[in-house]
Parts: sequence; C-alpha cells; structure tokens
Amino acid sequence: MLPLLLALVGLAIGPLLGIVLDRAVERERPEPLHRCRTCGTGLGINSLIPILSWFISCPTDAAHSKWRYPLTDIATAVAFAVAGARFGWTWQLGPYLLLFAALVVMSVIDLETHLLLNILTGPALGVGLFLVLVLSGVNNYDDGIWPALIGAGVYGAMMFFFYRLYPPGMGMGDAKLAPTLGLFLGWMTTTPVNAIRIVLFAMIVSFFGHAMIGLALRLSKRVGKGAELPMGPALAVGAVVMIVLSDRFLLPT
Ligand SMILES: [Zn+2]
Repeated sequence: MLPLLLALVGLAIGPLLGIVLDRAVERERPEPLHRCRTCGTGLGINSLIPILSWFISCPTDAAHSKWRYPLTDIATAVAFAVAGARFGWTWQLGPYLLLFAALVVMSVIDLETHLLLNILTGPALGVGLFLVLVLSGVNNYDDGIWPALIGAGVYGAMMFFFYRLYPPGMGMGDAKLAPTLGLFLGWMTTTPVNAIRIVLFAMIVSFFGHAMIGLALRLSKRVGKGAELPMGPALAVGAVVMIVLSDRFLLPT
C-alpha cells in the first residue's frame, strides 16, 4: 500500500521537479507552467499533468513537450515506490525520499547536458550531512554516523582518483556527487567495514551498468563514438540498487 501511495506522490511532484529542471537545463527563470520548446507558447495547466502532459502538443505549432518531463515523472514515481518498499513507515523514509528526488533531478540534467551542477551536488552533500547528524542523534542511531561519513569519504576519494586517472571517463561532477551517495550508502550500515563494502558494491553495479548500456547503445548504433553516456545517472542507479539490497550484501554485525 505504501509503495503505491508513494508512487502517486512521486507522480504528483514529478512536474514540480520538471520546473526545477527547466531552470537548471536552460538557465530560464522558473515558471509555474511550461512553455513550448520551439515557439514559447504557454502550455497552460495541462502541462503539469504527470506523464500525460507529454501527449499534449502545442496549440500553435503542434510540437510535443520535452521528453525530460515524462521521464522525470516516471523516474520519481518508481524511485518513491522503491523507497516505500524498502523503508516502510520508518524515520529513514523521509531522508531517502529526499535523496531519490535529488538523484532524479541530477540524473535527468546529466542525461541532457552531461553536467552535474555544483549548485545541486554541493547543497545535496550539505543537506545530507545535516540529516545524517541530526536524524541519527534524534533516532538513537549514533552507530550509523561514522559509517555514513566513512562511506562519503571513501566514495568521494575513489571517484576523484578515477577522475584524475582518466578524465575523459567521467567528470569532476561525478566526483562531487560520489560523497553524497557514499554518505547515504554508509548510513544504511552500522560498521565501517560494511560502509566500505556497500560503497564498493554500488560502484561496481554503477560501472557495470554503465558499460553494459554503453555497449548496447553502441551496438545498436544509437550513439556515435564521440557521444558518451554520462556517468551520473549510472552512479545514482547503482546507489539506489545497493540501498534497496543492502541487507543481502552486508556482513552480520
Ligand atoms: Zn509551440
């Protein structure tokens, strides 16, 4: 029941995230309603209907809206349902819903622009640290603080290392996103060893998934040699997968 409810909540806030995305991708001032991508005609309140808004074409030139809107709606609904299934009605549900929403926004921007914006990765880490420290304390989960900090440090250091090793493979933005992912991954555990384990597994899932999708795209000739799949969404999905499966990959404490 909770996953279904949260999927609906995700669908409802998807269009709101779409407004944030407009600002980030096109450097437009955020507007409460969307405009046609080609002629700029206002699309009215219909443009905020989750998913279905994509099927509404512009009254002036019949152009369809941007694919980022339905993608954001669907991704948010799925991510929220997954969070509901994983956490249930626990105090951890809130912070991880926030994380997942932030990851949807950052991933869609990265897919479109190949950028992870400092204006999002920076605050995400700041808010994450604040949540970890405050919520761990309030909920008698002090054992989770050190693993979270260690996860952040380890993931950040590893991605920065890879970035320096082979700059074309990923961007500095990926190295800036990694500490936030490591923070929330480590927070799932109560020992430093498990924090490192879950971060490593998340990285492996991300790199493997990224390579497989990149290979599939190349085989189907959807992308040229120059066009690379951005790393950010893969890191996000890898982290979500390991957050969901964490219990199966951790050592008993
Ligand atoms: Zn138009």
